[in-house]
Amino acid sequence: MVEKIAILGSTGSIGKNALKVIDALSVKSEASCENKITQSATQYASPAAAKAMSGRRNTQYEIVALSANTNIELLAEQVKKFRPKFVAITDENYIKPFQKLIGKTSKVEILAGADGLIKISELQDVDTIITAVVGAAGLKAALAAAKAGKKIAVANKEPLVVAGRLLTKTAKENNAAIMPIDSEHSAIFQALQAGKKNEVKKIILTASGGPFRKATKKEIQNVTLEQALNHPTWDMGPKITIDSATMMNKALEIIEAKWLFDIAAEKIEVLVHPESIIHSMVEFVDGSIIAQLGTPDMAMPIQYALTYPNRYESIAEPLKLDEIAQLNFEKPNTEVFRALKLAYEVAKAGGTAAAVFNAANEAAVEEFLAEKIKFVNIVELIEQCLQQHEVKANPTLEELLEADSWARQKVFDSVKLKT
Ligand code: NDP
Ligand code: MG
Repeated sequence: MVEKIAILGSTGSIGKNALKVIDALSVKSEASCENKITQSATQYASPAAAKAMSGRRNTQYEIVALSANTNIELLAEQVKKFRPKFVAITDENYIKPFQKLIGKTSKVEILAGADGLIKISELQDVDTIITAVVGAAGLKAALAAAKAGKKIAVANKEPLVVAGRLLTKTAKENNAAIMPIDSEHSAIFQALQAGKKNEVKKIILTASGGPFRKATKKEIQNVTLEQALNHPTWDMGPKITIDSATMMNKALEIIEAKWLFDIAAEKIEVLVHPESIIHSMVEFVDGSIIAQLGTPDMAMPIQYALTYPNRYESIAEPLKLDEIAQLNFEKPNTEVFRALKLAYEVAKAGGTAAAVFNAANEAAVEEFLAEKIKFVNIVELIEQCLQQHEVKANPTLEELLEADSWARQKVFDSVKLKT
């Protein structure tokens, strides 16, 4: 069987990793089949997932579509190597230069603008969409993939945060399977297979703690952009790297887990684990805690999202626990990392609150990356937006998008006023 794949955001950190994984899987797939690689967990996330995953053992992978925003040089290289039928270029200024790069003989069809991502998600010719664009920009495409009943391998967590209810409901109604790529959620997904839903006591979401794990309230005041971009264990795109430094990434992941696993936020506990070896755990009612461990390499969760319920050799380095020797754990400092507290408040508020939470963060991170605000201003701006926002219950997509634009504008206006 051939699994036809589209990668939204193929030029980013996750997108590049996904292509490496698919490349390696393609080379190995025949050998692996001959070796009768272990058929793993038989319990499926949902009937839709079970259907989508059945008969995947002899799978070959074909890249049908890729997307970039601005990095057309890399996109052109990817087109040369993987020969997709379609590419989407979301920033339309880059279309002409891209055409020049690939030349007139190239047969690839170019889809322009943000709509290009939606068109890719709806392609009949695509089975699996890997969502690897950054931010809420991926929301409409994720919804389109859910409506089209695709298998969606989700790295792009922001759409789940903004529109978790709508996205999961649409997926369910259309038999779309949502598979987590985020390492913590992949770990939780794997650990959940050890018991039944009503036997889960809590989810223990691990966090590296980022570069400022040990910082005091005073020390955090003057950290620099360079320090914030220097993540101790993971190599990722700039936005999520800053999110990790503020621990906003963990805050978003609480809400992501709530929707992915249909579990109350109060049952999701954050535990700082600086080595990033245990990617998350599930505690069951009998006190058993099931964890998933591995080297901090996204190749592993990306691959599992694609090959589930099967497991194949991975390009990730194997874990050598004797060399690591020690694993450490501590409670997060919620006085320094206030985003964590906000996540529970936002989850409780429901409605449009998470859209504001996410959009204010995206705008504030943009301003921080442009060196217009200080690191500590990020969470202050998010708090301000949440305080001023009137939450709308049961929002439509339009209302969520309105809340998103309102929060972004609020942040940009506040920054302008101060500078
Ligand atoms: P990167 O910044 O490395 O890549 C982002 C990708 O999205 C690029 O392909 C970029 O295109 C594209 N892009 C940027 N802006 C837009 C836009 N407005 N519209 C459409 N496409 C856009 O991000 P990451 O790969 O690090 O992260 C991607 C997603 O995965 C995020 O949601 C992140 O939270 C999540 N994630 C990432 C992890 C990681 O290890 N990196 C781990 C877990 C989750 P171009 O480069 O061509 O401009
Ligand atoms: Mg993560």
